[in-house]
Amino acid sequence: MKPSMHIAVIGYGSAGQALAVALSGDGHRVEVFERVPDPGPVGAGFLLQPTGLSVLWQLGLLDAALEHGAVVRRLHGETTASRTVMDMRYRELHPALFGLGLQRGAIFELLDRAWTEARRIHCGRGIVHVDHERGLLRDDLGDEHGPFDLVVVADGSASKLRAEIGEVVFDRPYPWGAQWCLVPAGDWPWPDELRQRYRHARRMVGMLPVGTRPGDPIPRLSFFWSLPAAALPDAGRDEARWRAEVAEIWPDAVERLQTTAVPDGLAQARYRDTVVRRWHRGRAVLVGDAAHSMSPQLGQGVNMALADALALRDALRAASALPEALDAYQRERRRHLDIYHFWSRWLTPLFQSEHDVVAGLRDLLFHPLSRVPGGRGQSLRILTGTRRGWFGRWPLPPDFIERLSNAGESR
Ligand SMILES: Cc1cc2nc3c(=O)[nH]c(=O)nc-3n(C[C@H](O)[C@H](O)[C@H](O)COP(=O)(O)OP(=O)(O)OC[C@H]3O[C@@H](n4cnc5c(N)ncnc54)[C@H](O)[C@@H]3O)c2cc1C
Repeated sequence: MKPSMHIAVIGYGSAGQALAVALSGDGHRVEVFERVPDPGPVGAGFLLQPTGLSVLWQLGLLDAALEHGAVVRRLHGETTASRTVMDMRYRELHPALFGLGLQRGAIFELLDRAWTEARRIHCGRGIVHVDHERGLLRDDLGDEHGPFDLVVVADGSASKLRAEIGEVVFDRPYPWGAQWCLVPAGDWPWPDELRQRYRHARRMVGMLPVGTRPGDPIPRLSFFWSLPAAALPDAGRDEARWRAEVAEIWPDAVERLQTTAVPDGLAQARYRDTVVRRWHRGRAVLVGDAAHSMSPQLGQGVNMALADALALRDALRAASALPEALDAYQRERRRHLDIYHFWSRWLTPLFQSEHDVVAGLRDLLFHPLSRVPGGRGQSLRILTGTRRGWFGRWPLPPDFIERLSNAGESR
């Protein structure tokens, strides 16, 4: 394999951005193709787990993330009757660990600024076809690009290219989605906790501290409002009713939304459940949500996308031929993420569905089960992204743990 390859990356989301940084840092010639004319962050905020943080650490970007993100030490969910459904603290797994709430704008800027080597990005070019044998691309203006030694498809959960490259086992939209936005944190009483409130599985409000972003020093929270995907187009048209509904679940949360325009200030999110048996064909390979889209219930997607990028870089470093590298990349990543796919598929209906009986059982059993010794360890490992398969562990290097420990103490 050539030490310096000509690589096309399709999509400039978290996966594509991390790939651009990691692969160009290794001396590869990277060209990014992005559908939108003016790429930027989409959505509100998200939670980086210790896995994702360890990838940023390996890319030399952890300090920049810590500068903007909000340290999250606890995940707490309760019903509207204040019954605890979930209560987990990172420190129960390891005293140094925490999650980092980040604005989408912060991670976008961070990765964008870090891609300094031979930057080549074609914006407003949606790729409509990949010739995986010859490494050629065709865009929606009819232009052809390439040949490339490797084409990395990172076009997200609604990927139109996935089926050309991978062997898709299934690919279906979840019947539920969400509205979300950023709001000023002000004197929010839980600055280091992800908090959620539920009514059955039909309604959920989530509030996640996500810190600041470059150019905007105001600390913010990411607000999440769950609802059926079919209701999304009309959600919030009757503003007074929408606010009353959110207030019924969580009055503290709706107070923060006073300056939010409803519905125009709310982004809509839909998600998919996609299983792909083979992630690569010829010179092309799937990365991020294009390879393994899942519901955001476990808050792992960005973390997985970052880990994919690093695993692909490392596989290209180690292998002597491209098929061997792509096989190794897929094997390594599936070993980590298959269990997340499994759990997100089974847990999502407990939090987003019309199954009131299932939600009742969740309210009764979820918290007690997560406190029994075996269940506790498993829940914490899943939460932190550090479970690998059913019993394995994602390795967190001692130097990284030390850096987290120092950062955690100084907050
Ligand atoms: C409500 C919600 C909350 C979430 N919370 C979390 C969380 O707390 N923690 C977490 O880790 N994850 C979370 N996620 C999941 C996370 O957002 C995704 O897993 C992650 O963004 C996937 O990154 P990606 O780069 O694979 O795809 P994307 O970010 O979707 O990027 C795909 C890019 O490809 C471009 N594109 C698409 N088609 C083409 C084409 N044909 N040609 C060229 N470009 C194209 C798109 O414009 C886009 O820029 C959440 C998701 C949602 C919806």
